[in-house]
Formats: sequence, C-alpha cells, structure tokens
Amino acid sequence: MNRYDVLIVGGGVSGLSCALTLASAKGKFSWADNKRYLVIDNQSSDLLKAMLNNVPGVKQGSLGREVLEYIKKQIDFYGCVDFVNDRVLSATGEKGNFVIETQGSLKFVGDYLVLATGFHEFNILGLDVEVVPNKKAPRPGKVMIKTDRDFKVKEGLYVAGLLAGVSSMFATASGSGTQVACNIMEEWAGKPIVIHDVPEPQK
Ligand SMILES: Cc1cc2nc3c(=O)[nH]c(=O)nc-3n(C[C@H](O)[C@H](O)[C@H](O)COP(=O)(O)OP(=O)(O)OC[C@H]3O[C@@H](n4cnc5c(N)ncnc54)[C@H](O)[C@@H]3O)c2cc1C
Repeated sequence: MNRYDVLIVGGGVSGLSCALTLASAKGKFSWADNKRYLVIDNQSSDLLKAMLNNVPGVKQGSLGREVLEYIKKQIDFYGCVDFVNDRVLSATGEKGNFVIETQGSLKFVGDYLVLATGFHEFNILGLDVEVVPNKKAPRPGKVMIKTDRDFKVKEGLYVAGLLAGVSSMFATASGSGTQVACNIMEEWAGKPIVIHDVPEPQK
C-alpha cells in the first residue's frame, strides 16, 4: 500500500493544475519538501477531444491532449508527483487516512483527497458526498458535488474542476484545481500561501 500527502483522482486540467501547484511549493517552504502526491486517472478527459483557441497563454490551435502532456512535463520537473493510469472504484476514510481502491486492484492511502473527475458522472463508492445536477453544464444530465466556497466537502476532502460546479472552460477548471492546492497548503502552513517565481537577477 502506498502513502501520499494528497491523492488526486482525475488527471484532467483541474487535477493536474492542483498537482502542479502543490508540487511547485517544493524547495520554497520547508513543510513542502518531503511531500508526495499521486494523480490517478483513467484517460478520458474532455480535453483529449479539444482544440484550444481561447485559453489565455496557450498557443491558438493547440490540441488539448498536447496541453495535458505539457502540464505533466511541468509537474515532472518537481519530481514529487506519481501518475497512475487506473480507475478509482472506491474511496473511504477521513483526513489523515483516506484510502482509494482501483479497478486494477491497487490501493493508496493519503492525508488529503481531491476529487477532480469531471461532470459526466460520479460513481466512486464509499464517500458521503452530495451529488446534485450541475447547473453550469451546457447540457442536462451532468453532475457536481456540493462543497463550501473553498471547494471543501469535509476536513481533508476537496473537489476541483467541473465536478465542483465551475463552468466548462479550461481556465475555470484549472483555476479551481489551483485554488484547492492553495487551500490545502494554507492548512499546512497555517497562513495563506501562493507560489510565485521571479527571474534570476542578471549578472
Ligand atoms: C470537444 C470539447 C472541446 C472543448 N473546447 C474547449 C475550448 O476550446 N476552450 C475551453 O476553455 N474549454 C474547452 N472545453 C472544456 C474543457 O475541456 C473542460 O472544461 C475541462 O477539460 C474540464 O476539466 P476537468 O479536469 O474538470 O475534467 P475532465 O477534463 O473531464 O477530467 C476528468 C478526468 O477524471 C478522470 N476520471 C473520471 N473518473 C475517474 C475515476 N473513477 N478514476 C480515475 N480517473 C477518473 C477522467 O479520465 C478524466 O481524465 C472543451 C470540451 C470539449 C468536450
């Protein structure tokens, strides 16, 4: 059984943005240095079908699948995130001891759990979450999980992306994943945290 500080279920842009922001704290704060993160995903992100013309900072005409691959490379730079290709079937537990189990019979434990599985359905068993119709979805039949304004369901359990009820746009899904990461880091640090880089001074 593998233990992580944060388990992220869903490797679309919201889950990956959450992972990237968490990973980018490495080397900047002592509390971040030994933290490990897991992204577990079964490869059906909506972005795999998309071509992007209206994502700020992303070259127009970029394919969604290329952008997802690039974000994974950005994450790999920090060396503290593992990726697993599998489907999560169940999740149980509480802050400090969430357990997820997969179709491939893998089991992972984490202090925090972030659900970022998109808005098509939510069928992970074992969690006491309120799944409701997604009012921001462009078509009926989509779902979201009720959270508070910080995307939190209960201690240690957060939701990001379309599953959290943000509009189906790259930037809003990405932003909510980043916000969840900042909320978790705020809990670790005991104060608001952002990660900002600046260029090296020129010699
Ligand atoms: C055809 C199309 C074109 C689009 N074009 C644009 C555009 O031009 N501009 C724009 O801003 N937005 C666009 N979008 C919207 C954008 O793709 C979404 O807003 C964004 O992908 C949502 O990200 P997400 O992380 O919330 O969900 P998703 O991208 O759906 O990611 C969820 C991930 O969770 C995984 N998952 C689900 N259940 C499980 C499970 N049980 N275990 C493990 N993994 C699981 C899925 O495999 C998936 O990879 C487009 C969408 C589509 C469909």
